[in-house]
Amino acid sequence: LLDFNTNLSQITGETTLLYKDIARNVEKTKRIKIIDFGIGQPDIVTFKRIRDAAKEALDQGFTFYTSAFGIEELREKIAQYLNTRYGIDVKKDEVIITPGAKPALFLSFILYINPGDEILLPDPSFYSYAEVVKLLGGKPVYTNLKWSREEGFFIDVDDLQSKISSKTKMIVFNNPHNPTGTLFSPNDVKKVIDIARENKIILLSDEIYDNFVYEGKMKSTLEDADWRDYLIYVNGFSKTFSMTGWRLGYIVARRDVIQKMGVLAANIYTAPTSFVQKAALKAFDTFDEVNEMVKLFKRRRDVMYNELSKIKGIQVSKPNGAFYMFPNVREILDVSKLDVKSLAIKLIEEKGVVTIPGEVFPLNIGKDFIRLSFAVNEEVIREGVQKIKEFVEEMM
Ligand code: PLP
Repeated sequence: LLDFNTNLSQITGETTLLYKDIARNVEKTKRIKIIDFGIGQPDIVTFKRIRDAAKEALDQGFTFYTSAFGIEELREKIAQYLNTRYGIDVKKDEVIITPGAKPALFLSFILYINPGDEILLPDPSFYSYAEVVKLLGGKPVYTNLKWSREEGFFIDVDDLQSKISSKTKMIVFNNPHNPTGTLFSPNDVKKVIDIARENKIILLSDEIYDNFVYEGKMKSTLEDADWRDYLIYVNGFSKTFSMTGWRLGYIVARRDVIQKMGVLAANIYTAPTSFVQKAALKAFDTFDEVNEMVKLFKRRRDVMYNELSKIKGIQVSKPNGAFYMFPNVREILDVSKLDVKSLAIKLIEEKGVVTIPGEVFPLNIGKDFIRLSFAVNEEVIREGVQKIKEFVEEMM
């Protein structure tokens, strides 16, 4: 029974959810109030127009399997939305709907990875990229993001270039970026595109936070005229429309690539959920509410940034995208002789404040950082950061 797929032995299984479990336990045993900065989703219930559309679809009996590619109207709607937003010409058969962005990423990795292929990932990056790559027998190779307090995180083009070998199959890019909240500059986006194109490497671009932009311009990889030559573009409804529990995402790629994705989809999960797709059609009419949510998040970001900046020992850069802050806590680690994971656990145990240690977003850079989500109401942000301040002062 335990003769598992040998690739599984490389998978850590340590996700952001683990820290929530620790918090639940602390809440129960110590009766400490939990403040959760660990969450990776907007805290707003899905907008009413979307909920109503799902109910209507159910009542109309839209309850059967759809095409593995998703319903035509939604593929068309997504293409139109991207075309209007970025001034491009995506066709509906260049879109496949998936049950979330994670399954979209999964299909993309399955489609390309042969055992031994090297997949370039940013360090730090969303935890599940590396795990899925390893599961499929691929080898994650990390390219460092550079950091300074003033400039935040940016792409080290020389490092990226130097990590490319004859085995490199794919570069994974994520903009705006989890866990750092970085919105990469149009110039950085262009450099990544050029490297993929010139080296004939597939670029897997996860742009799921593309509507959470507070300052600066979101440049999509789809804006490059030659995107069909190298790009697999992933996005979804989870973050923009606060639909995490509904499970809906999509991929844009060249028509023949999408055809292959459809074959995989049909074999793995058949099709995305029928009535959720109908609801998603309505999502595109709710951008007034999306914009309100983004404004609210911008205020929360400012509060969290201002409050964290006052804590001695924490160095924080202001993120321009997503809803994460990734402060450097090296000074605290050095004084306390703790590693970042123990620090995060101690913070939960002593103050009830959940953060995610940077180590979860694998490898090196994360060892100096913790991730805080500001998808939490303003009062809670003030209270939680105050507790972090007390915690740090007690240790330093
Ligand atoms: N990609 C990134 C960078 C994410 O942060 C997340 C969720 O946290 C996902 C993908 C997964 O999105 P979905 O809920 O659509 O599967």
